[in-house]
Amino acid sequence: MLCLTEATRSNPVTEYEERKSEKSTTAVHGELRDRRVRAHHALVTPVVQTATYTFADTADLKAFMEAKMWGVDPVMAERGEYGRYGNPTVRAVEKRLAALENGGDTLLFPTGMAAITNVLLSMLSAGSHVIFTDDCYRKTRTFCQTFLKRMDIESTQVPMGDFQALEAAIQANTRMIISESPTNPYLRVVDLKRLVTIARQHRIKTIIDATFATPFNQRPLEFGIDLVVHSATKYLSGHNDIMAGAVIGESGLIHALRQSQGMLGGILDPHAASLLERGLKTAALRVAQQNRTAQTVAECLAQHPKIERVWYPGLASHPDYDIARTQMEGYGGVVSFEIAQRADEEPLDTTSRFIDAMTIPYIAPSLGGVESLIEQPALMSYYELSTEERLAIGIKDNLVRFAIGIEDTVDILADLDQALAQI
Ligand SMILES: *Cc1c(COP(=O)(O)O)cnc(C)c1O
Repeated sequence: MLCLTEATRSNPVTEYEERKSEKSTTAVHGELRDRRVRAHHALVTPVVQTATYTFADTADLKAFMEAKMWGVDPVMAERGEYGRYGNPTVRAVEKRLAALENGGDTLLFPTGMAAITNVLLSMLSAGSHVIFTDDCYRKTRTFCQTFLKRMDIESTQVPMGDFQALEAAIQANTRMIISESPTNPYLRVVDLKRLVTIARQHRIKTIIDATFATPFNQRPLEFGIDLVVHSATKYLSGHNDIMAGAVIGESGLIHALRQSQGMLGGILDPHAASLLERGLKTAALRVAQQNRTAQTVAECLAQHPKIERVWYPGLASHPDYDIARTQMEGYGGVVSFEIAQRADEEPLDTTSRFIDAMTIPYIAPSLGGVESLIEQPALMSYYELSTEERLAIGIKDNLVRFAIGIEDTVDILADLDQALAQI
């Protein structure tokens, strides 16, 4: 049991975990200055379950309208008006997330996709052009290629990490570059500094979907990225029990997006916001544990004879290891790997047998929660495609995506060990 002994010996506490402690305080409290006055003196942000908000009299209404129009009284301007324009529970979580990402403001959405599509719809107009990287969330890609195309917005897909291709794809009407970092499922990491330098030369806005990283492992705004997007369904809420999305960036940009959200109508429910806030309080601890287990799992799998290749940015063998080291404080809880081929069986089937032999992780899409989840991308997100079609977009039949939860590292390693022994 090679992996087991390795795990019990090494419980690496690395430098980044010390530096991160400041973010755990923010995750638990939000901005300290915001917590002096609590609604109803309640320690926990109350769930404000209301569709609308009342005004004491006409003078009160007028004072609010003036504040909203001219921004003279920020406290007044922040009060509730109507549910689609804001909710105090949601607002509290938005502020906490902005503090975590070191951004000006946050806008929450009912799903990660709602966040992404709202950003694209709000910031792009007919005749403009967007560049996105391959190996990114499939629905984001499909949205660009179908939905945006119908609205006369062209898009170009460039290979992840290929800056020559990226520069070549830039046109006079290019308004936005959208990428993930790390990506799904190969955990490719974008050189954020380089991306920002190129984009700024051409006055192009940059968006990073940082769902896989969380603000505890990577904060793209600090590198000059314009907007960070999260599927808060994943690590930020962390319990596989809600769906939510977030966009974080400079306040003016978020304000403009908020105006669009008021029209498009997709808002986060206060109950989900409350669960998201609860999740955030333990997020730093969960992510640290997931980082630790994933690193150990990746190192162990890389030595296993039945594993052909491991994709994890914390391994020196990963193509983006050097970039990841300079811009990430931890490498995340997802490990992707390829099962070695047997002479007597299709790779698709060997891989399925391995997944079925695992006992701890559930077979399910998603990631980032306390429960480990495992999937074979060929059969989960790309089922309708043939092996050849999948290969053309880089999804191999023997690929496994293992989204590690917060179970004990030794148990996960033992589970992997026994499952690999069965194939
Ligand atoms: C899950 C996910 C999304 C979509 O988020 P939903 O909350 O499911 O809408 C977008 N990007 C990445 C990287 C994701 O993992």
